[in-house]
Formats: sequence, structure tokens, C-alpha cells
Amino acid sequence: MTNQELKLKSIEYRKKILKYIYHAKAGHTGGSLSCVDILNVLYNKVMNVSPANFDDPGRDRYVQSKGHSVEALYVVLADVGFFPEEDLLTLCRYKSPYIGHPTRKVRGMEQNTGALGHGLAICAGNALAAKKDNLPLNVYTLLGDGEMAEGSNWEAMMLAAHYKLDNLCAILDYNKQQITGANADVIGLEPLRQKVEAFGWAVKEVDGHDVEAMADLLNNAPFEEGKPSFLIAHTIKGKGVSFMEKVLKWHHGVPSPEQYELALSELDRELEKLTVQV
Ligand SMILES: [Mg+2]
Repeated sequence: MTNQELKLKSIEYRKKILKYIYHAKAGHTGGSLSCVDILNVLYNKVMNVSPANFDDPGRDRYVQSKGHSVEALYVVLADVGFFPEEDLLTLCRYKSPYIGHPTRKVRGMEQNTGALGHGLAICAGNALAAKKDNLPLNVYTLLGDGEMAEGSNWEAMMLAAHYKLDNLCAILDYNKQQITGANADVIGLEPLRQKVEAFGWAVKEVDGHDVEAMADLLNNAPFEEGKPSFLIAHTIKGKGVSFMEKVLKWHHGVPSPEQYELALSELDRELEKLTVQV
């Protein structure tokens, strides 16, 4: 897939995230728009996982530790063929498996997550098991910046460095906001890079909306042989919709009909601009 195609996909994904959240009248809008470029790159450019090999022990693993942004993951999994996209019209409906957090009832999901602070530890275990089984696979997890306050993440980081899990890559969706406010006001993470490096990880930073740069970095992981990789992806909560960007109420805000139309028209304009460039 070309970088241009990836960029077009990101906008289509944003439109679909809004479509299904609007339809369900529920969802984590800001965080899904924040992390969707990361998921786009992982599933379309980096990971060796697909509906065809999902039962193969040698597949790459992805665990979305920030489970509340599951709408982005649903849209991407549907696009790569794990289930029909129209299933998402049941999002958050009674008896639907498409609920507000990842569960293994949905094809393509590796783990139930959303109780925060679990994904990295699960992935460290997966990565260690893969090493012991001589399986040449990579394990990826997406962390939220709010969940970095969970001590379990730092325990998992110690373990991953101790066992030299260079088949493990954690990506932080660093949009600097969490449910109750700015990270800096709730529990500050800085100096984050130095902290993670001190825990024995190789760290790189990137614009988390630059699909080309992220693909380059992730396809060249591990960043350092013998160390787990930590990618700090600087993002914007609500990215792509002007009135949602960096506005806290969109953490799980649902657009009104007028806001939905306005958001789609903004994204369509972006799509048009990109298409003209092709
Ligand atoms: Mg955040």
C-alpha cells in the first residue's frame, strides 16, 4: 500500500468512526480519532496478521491496551476483512459483541482490554512466550497516556527489559489529555522519554498522524537490538475534526446531527484535497 493510499484510508476511517459512534449514540470519539493513524499503519503496513492467518501461532499480535478507543479498532478490523463492516451498525446494542471495549468475541481481537494498565503486561508475556517457542513474531500494544499512571505498566516495562524482549513494541497515543483533564494536571508523565529509557527500553518519538514516518519507524523495530521498543506518538485528541481537536468533552462526546454533518464535510474536504494530489 502506498503512503498516499494510507493517508486516504485514515480519512475514510475517521468518517466511519464518526458514522458508527453517531449511529450507536455512544463511543470514545476523541481517542479513536487520535489513534486511528497508528492502527492504520500497523494493520496495513507493518503487522503480519490477517483473517487468513489469525489462527496461526506465528502471527503478529496486537493488543489495544487503551481499550476505550475500540471504535477505531473495529473500523480497521472490518476494513482488513475480519468481519463485515455492517456488523458495526449493532455497536453498543443489546447482545451485540461490538461493545465499548475490545473483547475476544469479536474476530481479530486478541484480548479483552479496557480495564487500563493490562495490555503491556499481556504483551510482555506474549513476547516472552514467542521467544521461548522460537516464533519469529512481533507483539504490539497501544497505550493511552492516561493509563501510564497505572503502576502495572512500569512493572511490565521492567520485566520486558529484563528479558530483552526486542520482539515487543509499545506505542503511546500521546494526545496529552485523559478523561478528566490534561495529563499534566492529572498526573504528569514528563520527562517521559527519559523515564522509559531508564527502564531499559529503546525510545523513539514521532508525529502520530504521520503515517509515512510511523511506517518507517515501526518497520525498522526493534529500535535497538536486545531492547523492547517504545514509540512515543505525539497525537491530537479528536484529530481531523476542527471543533473536536483538543476539546475534552469529545473524550466520549457524541455529535448532534448538525455536528455530524459538519464533521463529515470537513473530512470530505480533506479527502478531496488528497485525491486531487493523486
Ligand atoms: Mg490521552
